[in-house]
Amino acid sequence: MRKRTWLTWAVALLVLAFVPLTIDGKPAPVNFKTELTKLADRYLPNYDAQQSTSSTQKRETSSADQTPIENIVQGKTLKKTYYYHFASDVSSSAQVAFEAAVATYNATGLVKLVAGNATDKQNSITFFVYEKQMSSANTQQGMIESGHGGPKIIQQTGWGAYTVNHARAGLNVAYPQQAIKQSVATHELGHALGLDHSTSKLSVMYPVDQSRTTLSTADLNALKAIYND
Ligand SMILES: [Zn+2]
Repeated sequence: MRKRTWLTWAVALLVLAFVPLTIDGKPAPVNFKTELTKLADRYLPNYDAQQSTSSTQKRETSSADQTPIENIVQGKTLKKTYYYHFASDVSSSAQVAFEAAVATYNATGLVKLVAGNATDKQNSITFFVYEKQMSSANTQQGMIESGHGGPKIIQQTGWGAYTVNHARAGLNVAYPQQAIKQSVATHELGHALGLDHSTSKLSVMYPVDQSRTTLSTADLNALKAIYND
């Protein structure tokens, strides 16, 4: 009797030992918002290609009570804790903008962004800068890409299954006046955490920069939907 029990366990352990080798064959989806390079941006003004003309701060009522969530994040169970770090070439002024955005999201209590390096199985955010010159056609239309960012979801199935987000958020320092801003960092970090563009001007995820640094109720509801279940 005791011997049979031992054998059963031995077989079960052998089977389990092979399960971790079964990694989800799907490529890790990446959903960075770099919409200016897409044709759609000719028709849809984009934050990441923000209009350089100063926008008036209009008071509008929110049409939706929840900011849209990036497709690849929908239905995923993500832990609220992220470890973030800066790429080596991020200037102190860009770091200040990113840190202010980090503080905004931490103040919600819905996510917890901690300075430091993540393991493969933990959520991470890399803050970076890049230089991308716009074509004269774009700049004549007042379209400048101020940044880009997004989630990268990695799912491992089988024994010890986990889902993590190795996200990135970047500022286009070719246009420092438009890009190195708390509002742009807040928007790109929103993408990194899984928020998509909103049609509400109250949202930090409105596609055109309004210098907004405060999360709307709809933004908070979307974060709750991603991180609170
Ligand atoms: Zn965007």
